[in-house]
Amino acid sequence: MTRPTLMLGRAPADRLIDELRRGFEELSANSGPVTMQTIKCGESAAVAGYEKAVRRTFRRVGVTLRGSTFPYEVDDEPLIEEIDRANDDPSTQGVLLFEPLPPHVNAELVKSRLSPDKDVDCVTPRRLGDFYSGQSDVAPATAAAVIQMLDHHAIAIEGKRAVVVGRSSVVGRPAALLLTFRNATVTVCHTRTLALDEELRRAEIIVAAAGVPELVTSDHVSEGVVVVDVGTNYVEGRVVGDVHFEGVSKKAKAITPVPRGVGPLTTVMLARNLFNLASAGE
Ligand code: NAD
Repeated sequence: MTRPTLMLGRAPADRLIDELRRGFEELSANSGPVTMQTIKCGESAAVAGYEKAVRRTFRRVGVTLRGSTFPYEVDDEPLIEEIDRANDDPSTQGVLLFEPLPPHVNAELVKSRLSPDKDVDCVTPRRLGDFYSGQSDVAPATAAAVIQMLDHHAIAIEGKRAVVVGRSSVVGRPAALLLTFRNATVTVCHTRTLALDEELRRAEIIVAAAGVPELVTSDHVSEGVVVVDVGTNYVEGRVVGDVHFEGVSKKAKAITPVPRGVGPLTTVMLARNLFNLASAGE
């Protein structure tokens, strides 16, 4: 087998950032600067890495970020008050809540308080409803990044057997839905799947979003498979994907590395969501 196509996030991210920068410039010229509010609770390696990437992307597209940081021990109420303030602030066009929220916070309650018109990551019930019915130009960012990655590398989706490992509401489920919208035949695997290896071996496209380091190995995949690894796991100070890259890349036709794969595209999808929200509110 020849070497696989290495699907890097950088090139599609740069291309979209250029487009978005021009779009935001035009929006700002017509209706004033575009600003996004971020809200986070405490500090963790995962949130810190993501926040840094968000800051970098939004700086590049010319959007100002305003950040609020709450202590990890924060209750629901101060978060809800901050969201209410951001909802009512006409100078803010989007709000991003860094997840996961601490376990003692009622995440569904807090998220549902956000105005759908400012919901940049598609977490509110109305946005999710629109997304699931195929009527939204705002999509969960990581799932959208998966599709963007495949499209950029001219990977055909229609008619393919796709297996998504993971069924979380932020990654697995929306990725499966977007693949279905694109006419793939999709199987969603999860912790109760009886024979993950058999499902994976049937796949022509694998999207790994389980949060388990190197769960998918070369024994589990068929020759010529396309693999998008969403996993971002911190192991002994290193970021490791859900796919055993070295082994699987010997069989794959195309594969994303971790890091430098889907990650750089995710924050760009957030910026695209913000652009669509800000344009709609013009
Ligand atoms: P999650 O823990 O909410 O969900 C994990 C899902 O994987 C669950 O549905 C679970 O059933 C399934 N799963 C876990 N172990 C499994 C196993 N052994 N076999 C089959 N299924 C299994 O995680 P999440 O928020 O969906 O994130 C998934 C991964 O993606 C994590 O590594 C996370 O850090 C990463 N992530 C990356 C980005 C990015 O931009 N690259 C964004 C969000 C999340």
